[in-house]
Amino acid sequence: MKSNQNHVSVVIVGAGPTGVLLAIELARRGVEVRVLDKQLARSPESRAIGIHARTLELFHQLGIVEEFLDLGHQVNGAMFHTHARHSTRVRFGRIDSPYPFMLTLSQAETQRILDEKLERLGVTIERGAEVAGIEGDATGVELVTVAADRSRERTLHTDWLIGCDGARSVVRRSLNMSFDGDEYGQDWLMAEVSIDWPLPHDHFHVFAYTPSVLPAFPLPSHRWRVFVPQVPDRAVAEREAPTMKEIERLVAERGPAGIRIGDPTLLAAFHCYRRHTKIMRSGRVFLAGDAAHVHSPAGGQGMNTGLGDAFNLGWKLSLVVQGQATTDLLDTYQRERVPIAEGVLGLTHALVKTFTMPSSGKRWLRDRLLPVASRTPVAERRFVNRMAQVSHNYRSGPLSTRNARPLSEPVASGERLPDVEGLERDGRAIRTLDLLSGGAHTLLILSGERNGLALADETAARFDRRDGLIRTITVAPGADPHHPGVVADPQLRAHRRFRARRGRLLLVRPDGYVACSAPLDRTDLVEKYLERLTTSTDSRREPRRAMTRCDASELLEGHNASAIGALRSGART
Ligand SMILES: Cc1cc2nc3c(=O)[nH]c(=O)nc-3n(C[C@H](O)[C@H](O)[C@H](O)COP(=O)(O)OP(=O)(O)OC[C@H]3O[C@@H](n4cnc5c(N)ncnc54)[C@H](O)[C@@H]3O)c2cc1C
Repeated sequence: MKSNQNHVSVVIVGAGPTGVLLAIELARRGVEVRVLDKQLARSPESRAIGIHARTLELFHQLGIVEEFLDLGHQVNGAMFHTHARHSTRVRFGRIDSPYPFMLTLSQAETQRILDEKLERLGVTIERGAEVAGIEGDATGVELVTVAADRSRERTLHTDWLIGCDGARSVVRRSLNMSFDGDEYGQDWLMAEVSIDWPLPHDHFHVFAYTPSVLPAFPLPSHRWRVFVPQVPDRAVAEREAPTMKEIERLVAERGPAGIRIGDPTLLAAFHCYRRHTKIMRSGRVFLAGDAAHVHSPAGGQGMNTGLGDAFNLGWKLSLVVQGQATTDLLDTYQRERVPIAEGVLGLTHALVKTFTMPSSGKRWLRDRLLPVASRTPVAERRFVNRMAQVSHNYRSGPLSTRNARPLSEPVASGERLPDVEGLERDGRAIRTLDLLSGGAHTLLILSGERNGLALADETAARFDRRDGLIRTITVAPGADPHHPGVVADPQLRAHRRFRARRGRLLLVRPDGYVACSAPLDRTDLVEKYLERLTTSTDSRREPRRAMTRCDASELLEGHNASAIGALRSGART
């Protein structure tokens, strides 16, 4: 592939949340990246309002979580109202995270915060640049962009291209990748309104009185988003925005008696699909976010899953671009993320099925089982951790050292590093999540309860030489004036949680998952992991898959017909 002045290391197509987070991940590691979007301005649509605990942890690592917490609304649980005598309550307080809640915030605000972070890193989104076709080979990718007014075409060359261009991805279609799945029958409606009722505004409510439910999510400023799934008297994919009268009628049919809704700021119709691709990498091209998987908004998983894709790919691509790892590392992206996407599709489909049951017998059973499950702490914890995405893991993935955790190990390779509080650095209280913000692999050297710091120092010196690949942090029972950087663990919480009485090494990936764990004197195990990460038996081999140049006119046809095409933001009646 030729290179010219229009050459860049990485091009991201699509400045939705997935594309922008990926750009942040690359830019903060010094990788040259351009972000192209066909829209002339950021979308003002509210769409994803639920930000889950795992995503807040990612934002914590990026130093932007406070902005989200300041603007968002904290949701502490969910209440299911059925014909059973008592409503069922699920408490998010059981989520295993420093953020044991869901935050609601308009997607437009989420995107603004992410865009501003990217801008601070020196990358400006190039708007009004529609990618019309791509062509690639083993050495690079050529893409054609068309200006918003169709006045000119440009050709760009890049080493790597990532399609974060949403459900109707041009990148995915250029590669003829399948997008298998199905669709849900009728249109779904949603409205953002004020509601006059006594129900707690720190919970979301699902009214399951009728075969199809009515969920209501609390928003900032005492407002609510009401979803009306599967409206039977609407034609399939009609996508005609509802009137306030229609919403009022459906809320009266499905919701509790006598509530008053008003002051709509959003009235919209949309159609739901559940589709995904099993191929998220083809040579030098990747897919992430809605371009790779779409599903119903049940459980608020979509944006969160796309952000998880970006966080997984960002560090891997950075290492490869900077020559610190071979291209084989990039195959682990697809092998780790496809199972996650499939799990999310399974969860959202199960939620839709559970709450749209035509059979009254099954509904009767559901209404009796739900309270029992919610009163079982193990079941409740499992459910909320899955919804919050903190139980996502890569235990069976290609980077994991073992599929199962041996009993002697505190945490398995591929599991998210559990968060532990009670640490101190320079007199300030911190937690393990605070130790993961550097963007590199982090080697936590837990010195042991009585070992002194000699062995920890020796280990740190050995790995600090690894040229930016690793940051070492020593965690010792007490602060030591001769070791100012050491993190103190005065109540031994981290030492106990990570079974480090005699000392332990925990290598944590840049995305917060445990790479490997070993006794303090087994530095060879950490070396072995790094060796596997940075070299491979079959390096530089590109998976061969024909990439075809697409006819721009074919792809541009219907370019405005996004899945959310019918979203009519700001409608008022
Ligand atoms: C009603 C509704 C409610 C939802 N609620 C939630 C929720 O509560 N929680 C949650 O996690 N998710 C939710 N989602 C899903 C969420 O909105 C999406 O998963 C999320 O926006 C996907 O982000 P993305 O960046 O992958 O894609 P998108 O947000 O679709 O962004 C794609 C970008 O690519 C650009 N683009 C497209 N084609 C081209 C091209 N050819 N050239 C250049 N640019 C291009 C587009 O302009 C766009 O900016 C909801 C979705 C809907 C419809």
